[in-house]
Amino acid sequence: MLPHLRILEPHPNVLAFYDGRVPGYRFAAGENWVDDGALSLGIASYAIVDGEGALVYDTHVSVAHAEAIRTALTARGVRHITVVLSHWHLDHIAGNAVFADCEIIACNKTAAHLLKNRAAIENGTYDGLPAIAPLVMPTRTLEDQLTLTIGNLAVDLQRFDIHSDDGVVLWLPSEKILLAGDTLEDTITYVAEPKNLARHLTELDRLARLAPRLILPNHGCPERIGSGGYGPALIPATARYVRALLAMKSDARLRATPLRDLIASDLQDGTLVYHSDYEAVHARNIASVTGV
Ligand SMILES: [Zn+2]
Repeated sequence: MLPHLRILEPHPNVLAFYDGRVPGYRFAAGENWVDDGALSLGIASYAIVDGEGALVYDTHVSVAHAEAIRTALTARGVRHITVVLSHWHLDHIAGNAVFADCEIIACNKTAAHLLKNRAAIENGTYDGLPAIAPLVMPTRTLEDQLTLTIGNLAVDLQRFDIHSDDGVVLWLPSEKILLAGDTLEDTITYVAEPKNLARHLTELDRLARLAPRLILPNHGCPERIGSGGYGPALIPATARYVRALLAMKSDARLRATPLRDLIASDLQDGTLVYHSDYEAVHARNIASVTGV
């Protein structure tokens, strides 16, 4: 049923459940947000596993994906699951129902966004089909920070206003691994809240101060994720792209620069990996930032 869901193991305690970036493959017929925007870019949900405990970071794009995650964790001996939501966008919460018997943790803004849009999400009018029904809501909220213990591992949840105002990243201090949600993406960030880009830059600086060794974004290159993740340079590369977008407001030449040229140095040194489906994201970002 999910022919392309891959279970990657970027780190002994971290699993990535990756789907998408498969030419010609469609999850569903017709226009739908799962294929157009999630699987086209490629998307991973993660699990941090230690002994019988697991933290599931995002419930993926469908109930079927979430069931596959739960089945795989159970097969590995996991008995206790805690869910953490990276933010409220549909491709991160669609499988919540599979974890309805678990604690589902989100920041208070995520809970508020979901509550406000619950009816539209459940009837398929928020971002079109498929509907997510029932939408299972968070059971516990944090404001800015919360530390959990999964098995013997400390996992720090921290809120960042990057991509969306309710971003929650996971920080594994013992390994210096950052699970970034959608605060960082490869090939480029997806601008969902263009009015907040200046704040995103400040927040990217704050994120960089964690000094991660490895970064695992939810949308990125599967080979890079499977081999351990991205280096810390993904953060300044994201900031450079955001600054370029902001400069495009008054710079037509920059607006017309092809994406590959705009981020050429980051592609050249391997900080970023080009994925052609981000061309559409780039065009959309330019339109939303510059109004052109
Ligand atoms: Zn996403």
